[in-house]
Amino acid sequence: MTELLPNHLGGQWHHGSGTGAELTDPVLGQALVRVDATGLDLRAGFAYAREQGGAALRALSYRERAALLAAAVKVLQANRDAYDDIATANSGTVKNDSAVDIDGGIFTLGTYAKLGESLGDRHYLVDGEAARLGKDPLFQSQHILVPTRGVALFINAFNFPAWGLWEKAAPALLSGVPVIIKPATATAWLTQRMVKDVVDAGIFPSGALSVVCGSSAGLMDALEPFDVVSFTGSAETAAVIRSHPAVAQRSVRVNIEADSVNSALLLPGDEAALDLLTKEVAREMTVKSGQKCTAIRRIFVPEAQFDVAAAAISARLAKTTVGNPRNESVRMGALVNRAQLRAVQDGLAYLQAQTQTLHDGTSHALVDADPAVACCLGPTLLGTRDADGSERVHDTEVFGPVATLMPYRDPAHALALVRRGQGSLVCSVYGSDAGALAQAAVALADSHGRVHVISPDVAQSQTGHGNVMPQSLHGGPGRAGGGEELGGHRALGFYHRRSAIQASISVLNAM
Ligand code: NAP
Repeated sequence: MTELLPNHLGGQWHHGSGTGAELTDPVLGQALVRVDATGLDLRAGFAYAREQGGAALRALSYRERAALLAAAVKVLQANRDAYDDIATANSGTVKNDSAVDIDGGIFTLGTYAKLGESLGDRHYLVDGEAARLGKDPLFQSQHILVPTRGVALFINAFNFPAWGLWEKAAPALLSGVPVIIKPATATAWLTQRMVKDVVDAGIFPSGALSVVCGSSAGLMDALEPFDVVSFTGSAETAAVIRSHPAVAQRSVRVNIEADSVNSALLLPGDEAALDLLTKEVAREMTVKSGQKCTAIRRIFVPEAQFDVAAAAISARLAKTTVGNPRNESVRMGALVNRAQLRAVQDGLAYLQAQTQTLHDGTSHALVDADPAVACCLGPTLLGTRDADGSERVHDTEVFGPVATLMPYRDPAHALALVRRGQGSLVCSVYGSDAGALAQAAVALADSHGRVHVISPDVAQSQTGHGNVMPQSLHGGPGRAGGGEELGGHRALGFYHRRSAIQASISVLNAM
């Protein structure tokens, strides 16, 4: 039997009492470790986090908590090689793709450590200026933000076991709120190992950082009114979370990051920008085998550039070597497991009924990997000239190396097509005319959490369509879940409660 990973709850390590779920290597098919949460006393564990972890964190200032984040960064950096090994084995990703998750997570934690340092030795945040409430200037209202006295439960997706942990935990811990993380079962190992390293280093107070691996049963039931839950995953599970009595009846604050049919848009009359779009699309389709919530799924180009774009993107994709991430010649590893491979194959067939295949991923011979075992699939570019009539392309997120190219008639048509995604995490726009780019960016802002504008002057310095930078907002309206994460100091808002203190200015000045 493989090792059963312990959970950390109530300030202690506990093994589940069941046999657990087995995590496997998606390339070699071998069993790796098991996870199980059977028999954990969730209510007691949540209470311990709230009462012990929360109180100890709130006793510290923002600057002191920022120092703990910085210490956690050092521990994670010291253990980085182990994380790489786990990612290769459990996620089947090549080194560069594992780095997006691991280094992205550590970078985000470090960014919040710096941000927290700048907040200083205070225990709550002041929100705006005091306002007079009547004629007498003596009596005024001052809004303040104080850390919520609950726990933050994180329910995460399989594709970012490292970044998904730290992008949520960094602002929560900095705010003074204890976290309980429930990673997706398929890739829980890396999350569990990172939490274990940080807990074993004794950086945070007991109860500040907990991890529950395996079944999600009972987690939502353990939430109380001052707790918050931040969910990342599919729209179906998001609907279950939203309708849970904890949220619907006990007003537990919820943040949802769900699926998204993101786009890339080439503005008209811009030959130079086509090359930028081609590079970005090929990269987005292949990084982490397209298993990124921000990956480009729909590509819109002017009608006259459809054929040249199809040829250029296909030519780039054809060069992608696919297979065992341990082989240095391989550029794209595996999907996370057989279930995801089947889901991507089914999704592809569903889209192919309304599209042509411009570059066929099945033409890629796997390097160093047995197609009967490895969950690898080459990148596939689909295309349709009927962008209006192919409704499946706008409605379906195939969570793998798949995107669809479509032509548009004029800018108004392009923007209308992008909006058919019904709210997305990100749209990237390509062109050289600053005025036209600015106009498109503002027009797309209401339906996107982020608009990533790529012009030739930023070709080298732009941070990537799909890379989520901690300084910028992550989340999207509508179908993308309506959530907001990161965005620098904005992320702290979710973990704080706003209160208006109405008092004499002598009291307000004393605060
Ligand atoms: P998923 O199947 O919805 O699972 C997400 C998480 O929810 C897992 O931890 C899962 O645990 C848990 N879960 C399942 N049923 C639950 C329930 N009834 N109550 C509470 N928790 C429950 O999603 P996934 O397949 O891991 O992730 C892929 C999806 O996530 C894609 O659609 C992708 O677009 C989206 N995603 C979005 C973002 C973003 O930031 N917007 C980022 C990454 C991924 P188990 O694993 O144990 O079932």
